[in-house]
Amino acid sequence: MTKIAIIGAGVSGLIAARDLTFCADVTLFDKSRGLGGRAATRYATPYEFDHGCQFIQGQSTEFNRFLEGLVEQRILKRWDARFAEIDSGEITHQRQWGADQPHYVPRNRMNMLGHHLAEGLDVIREAQITGLNRKNDGWYVTHHMKSEYGPFDWVISAIPSKQAADILPEEFTHLEVISNRKMGGCFSLMLGFDTPLPTEWDAAVVKNANISWVAINSSKPERSDAFSVLINSTNNWADKYLDDDRNWVQEYLLTEAIKVTNLPLHQASHKALHLWRYANIESQAGKPASYIDFDNNLAAIGDWCVKGRIEGAFKSAKDLSKQLLPVLDQKRFNLISA
Ligand SMILES: Cc1cc2nc3c(=O)[nH]c(=O)nc-3n(C[C@H](O)[C@H](O)[C@H](O)COP(=O)(O)OP(=O)(O)OC[C@H]3O[C@@H](n4cnc5c(N)ncnc54)[C@H](O)[C@@H]3O)c2cc1C
Repeated sequence: MTKIAIIGAGVSGLIAARDLTFCADVTLFDKSRGLGGRAATRYATPYEFDHGCQFIQGQSTEFNRFLEGLVEQRILKRWDARFAEIDSGEITHQRQWGADQPHYVPRNRMNMLGHHLAEGLDVIREAQITGLNRKNDGWYVTHHMKSEYGPFDWVISAIPSKQAADILPEEFTHLEVISNRKMGGCFSLMLGFDTPLPTEWDAAVVKNANISWVAINSSKPERSDAFSVLINSTNNWADKYLDDDRNWVQEYLLTEAIKVTNLPLHQASHKALHLWRYANIESQAGKPASYIDFDNNLAAIGDWCVKGRIEGAFKSAKDLSKQLLPVLDQKRFNLISA
């Protein structure tokens, strides 16, 4: 059977693995302990924060069908948030999210999605891949502890574009294109409170500020009761201060968030900051949705190929599997009939 290594167990890597498993022996590698990549959860008992992806929405029929399946399996639930737009400290628009344009979140916590998608798959965690090495019998992936895994017939990168460009070999046909796909950063500020704050909204898009988003994380369905707030900086602001003092960044974002929301956020008894160095893609080209090199048996996928959304990660993975499965299936057919 064809052996495939997928680097990255975020949504794109997991979806690709689930599809390719039909025709191949797939091993996933992820540098972190968790599963699901940026569809992540940070724990700080009694608080929990979806500090990456905030909610999931579908546009295409195929993705909406996938979401409906997850709702039926009780993995996702609709988040009927009280939504607001805030501009210069004023609420300029308010509405209640509902069934007309459903916004989904995994029950309990965001990383449930990755854990569900990884069921039955072979995932090697805490394994940062630092490079690829071709030998006579196939590709080997190099682990940060210097050991090698292989041989593999195919290696698929399912990690952010800059990280992919750092580890994919020079012979990969699409290396230059990928190196030029720049992703923006984002700081996520997590605040936990002893007592709930009175708020008129659960989720707010912020305009004309260095903050882009504020959510009452604990308002999501089936979450911990401990009142928690998640604040995201804009990509532009994060990119300017990526390497600045984190305490300064945290205090700056807290002060900004107080100005923007008029909420007494300084009362937080828990404060933490996370930097997503590769949070989102600036230019969202969408074509091709995956980069495949059939001469070298290498590929790169991820949301950055399409759009910085879970749907983008899904579409990229599906684009890869639709092209690769017929090739693998033919190979399997040839093996069986030999
Ligand atoms: C703050 C924030 C808010 C967001 N909000 C939303 C939202 O509301 N709705 C929405 O749809 N999307 C949102 N997104 C985007 C969404 O999270 C992503 O589009 C999606 O999760 C990307 O999936 P992916 O598989 O392409 O990449 P990732 O999720 O980044 O997965 C890549 C995986 O690869 C691993 N990895 C990286 N390098 C290596 C290596 N060298 N070796 C081994 N493993 C490696 C990482 O640990 C990670 O698990 C948000 C993202 C952020 C950061």
